[in-house]
Amino acid sequence: PQAPSDPLIEGLNPPQRDAVLTTEGPVLMLAGAGTGKTAALTRRLAHLVRSRLAWPSEILCVTFTNKAAREMRERVGHLIGPAVEGMPWLGTFHAIAAKMLRRHAELVGLQPNYTIIDTDDQLRLLKQLIQAEGLDEKRWPARQLAGCIDRWKNRGLNPADLDAGENEAYANGRGQKFYQLYQDRLKAVNACDFGDLLLHMLNILRTNREVLEQYQQRFKYVMVDEYQDTNQVQYLWLRLIAQERKNICVVGDDDQSIYSWRGAEVANILKFEKDFPGAKVIRLEQNYRSTPQILAAASGLIGENTQRLGKTLWTERHPGEQVRVIGVWDAPEEARRVGDEIERLERQGAPLDQVAILVRAQYQTREFEDRFISIGMKYRIIGGFRFYERAEIRDALAYLRVIAQPADDLAFERIYNAPKRGLGAKALEALHTLARRRGIPLAMAAIEIADTDELPARARNTFLSLMRDFARWRDLAGTENPADLLRNVLDESGYTDALQAEKTPEAAGRLENLVELARAMEEYETLGDFLEHVSLVMDNDAASDEEKVTIMTMHAAKGLEFDNVFLPGWEEGVFPSQRAMDEGGLASLEEERRLAYVAITRARRKCTILHAANRRIYGQWTSSIPSRFIAELPEDHVESETTLSGGASLWRAQWSEMADPFAEVARAQPARTITRGPGWQRAAAREFDTTPRKIAESTRSAASFAAKPRTDVEIGSRVFHEKFGYGAVISQEGNKLEIDFEQAGRKRVLDSFVKPAG
Ligand code: ATP
Ligand code: MG
Repeated sequence: PQAPSDPLIEGLNPPQRDAVLTTEGPVLMLAGAGTGKTAALTRRLAHLVRSRLAWPSEILCVTFTNKAAREMRERVGHLIGPAVEGMPWLGTFHAIAAKMLRRHAELVGLQPNYTIIDTDDQLRLLKQLIQAEGLDEKRWPARQLAGCIDRWKNRGLNPADLDAGENEAYANGRGQKFYQLYQDRLKAVNACDFGDLLLHMLNILRTNREVLEQYQQRFKYVMVDEYQDTNQVQYLWLRLIAQERKNICVVGDDDQSIYSWRGAEVANILKFEKDFPGAKVIRLEQNYRSTPQILAAASGLIGENTQRLGKTLWTERHPGEQVRVIGVWDAPEEARRVGDEIERLERQGAPLDQVAILVRAQYQTREFEDRFISIGMKYRIIGGFRFYERAEIRDALAYLRVIAQPADDLAFERIYNAPKRGLGAKALEALHTLARRRGIPLAMAAIEIADTDELPARARNTFLSLMRDFARWRDLAGTENPADLLRNVLDESGYTDALQAEKTPEAAGRLENLVELARAMEEYETLGDFLEHVSLVMDNDAASDEEKVTIMTMHAAKGLEFDNVFLPGWEEGVFPSQRAMDEGGLASLEEERRLAYVAITRARRKCTILHAANRRIYGQWTSSIPSRFIAELPEDHVESETTLSGGASLWRAQWSEMADPFAEVARAQPARTITRGPGWQRAAAREFDTTPRKIAESTRSAASFAAKPRTDVEIGSRVFHEKFGYGAVISQEGNKLEIDFEQAGRKRVLDSFVKPAG
């Protein structure tokens, strides 16, 4: 035991300390959002290393995202200094499994330089298999098969393990056959998909005592964050590794289980005590993240769920503001409104990287992107239309993959005619035939075909010269850094020229992306390192110091926190999603509610929920009604600012009757001044007999309002600002003050965040 003044446990509450100091035996930390689970886990990791209970390389620590792993590594570094350098086994399940698999690839018939393919490649490959078997791809879509295969892999099932029911899941009982064909094909091109990383490793651990014992010995301590979202294959894998020493500490919250659609089983956390008898269960109840208002709203909402363990949360934080619910007309207005709010926050000095917009579905992001581009707001999108999924980036990566691994047929197929070299489907077919006959990769066939009379001489020569280029680039890869290699490849392959020749804005954008890609590669020493990194970045959270608003899905936001959180699209059919409602079951609705709980509890200071009366979904305008989750928020903790008094349909009826009433009224009446304050738009709307929306829009451009200035601060007086600390007032204009802060320098802020400092 250590002195309480130890910086590692300083400031932690007693159960957190317990979690840090109970290093031996199984530990389950089960607690609600923001109670410091991840914080405690991080300290525990630091404690293990610093007290020499284990070397960093002897600890297996699983986080949910790459970003979380990076943050944990940084924090441990802060706590115990650079001694921590290598934490080789700190990462996501996938990253850790990929690293292990590199060492044992041959045990599952792969070479160590195997490629990790993504969904795009996966679908292309499955399509080929389906066609080759003479099946109608329209009737039995590749997507469906991909879904089945993912599900089987998530459950730790190999083709041979499928029961009759599972086999029926695709093409009238041909599920198993296609699964097997797919696995064989992957092996032939020395590749594996995401699901394979874990499944292959599980197979290896199950069938190789030596390898299993090696890892059981190595990992003196095992820790897992977000344990409620582990799936079966991850669970089996962990259990094998931790079985021997039983020093396993898992952390989770049953109320935040939101990945059952990806095979996660909340039951894993519930049966932990059975798997590891004598486990110490630690509960945390103090929330350090959110204001009481936010916490009460979230707790009230999740209280509607029936399937939960139930827990109380409390906080000592300042009450803060109620959760705000804003009703708007449609999605563009929603995006405008959020943009305005964020600009306001920015003027008050709020850093943009503390602002997040969390959406239920990916399609919701575009409206915000459009708006932010037009007002010049800096933003980043995490997940979704990921950088690495853009066509030009995928092309560039395909070149690099063929360089790294000539047997990568999938990559070869992508670029053999990009840029256009006059090689069509016929040419590829000829290569395929030759490759199959000779049992060689396509890249090899592209050379050997020169000695045949299969194709017109011109096509054969084109292939040959392309393969000469590849041979040269492969040599370069041994001497040059990856970024320079890429620049060479793009220039010499004609890829850059082709884009430049297009002379379109899109092409210019693509070129910029490629420049960005090269920039991203500069951090890596070898091409292999970079390619591994790329295949693992699920979240495009490329390190950037610039302050930007974050746009991401609620799912991706798990474990994160932001001062200000905006939650748009809280309408029936969007959230809860149509799918959850159609499936109808209690379970899917409760999972949506857990997602709502996760979303609200990301906010530290302020949470704003929006819903629109009309939304265009899949090209169709539909009028929508506010999400049931809004009605479930406890009233006392919510401030509604909705314009939808009589429900969406009534509002719409009123709307269609008045073309532009505000303009009419404005013409008829003399100019007047509206004072902004709580509810001012509604008051003004009454006065002018129009809608608050029209008021908001008209006043935004005209700025025909006056703000009440503060009278208790004056020029030269010393004041205190919530965020920037102490400073002297330099000037006052309406409700804005210019202040020379002692720490933060000169800034313009809103006077409501300032108080006299005596
Ligand atoms: P989630 O369930 O959302 O993942 P969590 O339980 O992992 O939440 P953390 O992210 O670890 O919670 O902590 C939430 C916030 O509270 C963080 O900002 C963290 O720094 C802070 N915090 C945690 N423990 C303490 C403590 N003992 N004293 C003060 N602040 C704390
Ligand atoms: Mg956490």
